[in-house]
Amino acid sequence: MFPRYGVEGQGVDVRGRDVRVLMIAPPGAGKGTQGALIAAHFGIPHIATGELLRDHVARRTELGRAVQRHLDQGELVPDHIVLDMVRDAMVAAKAAGGGYVLDGVPRNMEQARALYQIGLELGMTADVALHLKADDHELIRRLLARAALEHRSDDTEEVIRRRLALYHEVTAPIVSWYGERGILVSVDAMRPAEQVGREILAALEVMRPLVDLVPESARRAVDLTGLGAAFGERST
Ligand code: AMP
Repeated sequence: MFPRYGVEGQGVDVRGRDVRVLMIAPPGAGKGTQGALIAAHFGIPHIATGELLRDHVARRTELGRAVQRHLDQGELVPDHIVLDMVRDAMVAAKAAGGGYVLDGVPRNMEQARALYQIGLELGMTADVALHLKADDHELIRRLLARAALEHRSDDTEEVIRRRLALYHEVTAPIVSWYGERGILVSVDAMRPAEQVGREILAALEVMRPLVDLVPESARRAVDLTGLGAAFGERST
């Protein structure tokens, strides 16, 4: 997407290649918004599993009919369905330049492992696992506000609580796995979306030229959640 510099035939992109980001976030933390922002900023595909699944439900495809009940109840769709969908989207992302932002996957440890295998096969494992942190109270407030606007079938209070419980039970534990791999970047998602977005883009821009230079074994997790306070931002 960006100009390449270098001697003819051996172009070196000084800004680094297209980034590969996956997001881990509880419902309501803003992963859809931030995913779209990252995708637009870097010119990479935004692969949002919830959106893809809701689209199947709306079009009443066979897959849509098979998963509707799971979505309506806030339960996870079976892993193989999601992983097949994601593999297809990643093959397309590879053809489009190799970058991606994954939004909504992985949701559990099995998906995290399977995704890593798919990444290895395609030569496009994630560079950054972006963790959006927010507390349950704020998430429930945001989701109920969204429910009034968007009428998503899974934004009722009962289903919201189920989705949050599921997040803590099966999704949150994968965060430390990415921490151990050294690709975890944690961001405080309790602040206004623009502020969170700016911080994410700044962090990704800094990391982008380095991703191929630093071997996985030498990487360390990055925690930006204290950054606002460190620079005098008042918590509300
Ligand atoms: P989201 O838009 O990411 O909040 O996802 C909405 C719903 O889609 C979830 O509550 C699940 O029912 C389903 N879903 C999305 N991504 C996945 C996934 N990776 N694994 C299983 N179910 C998923």
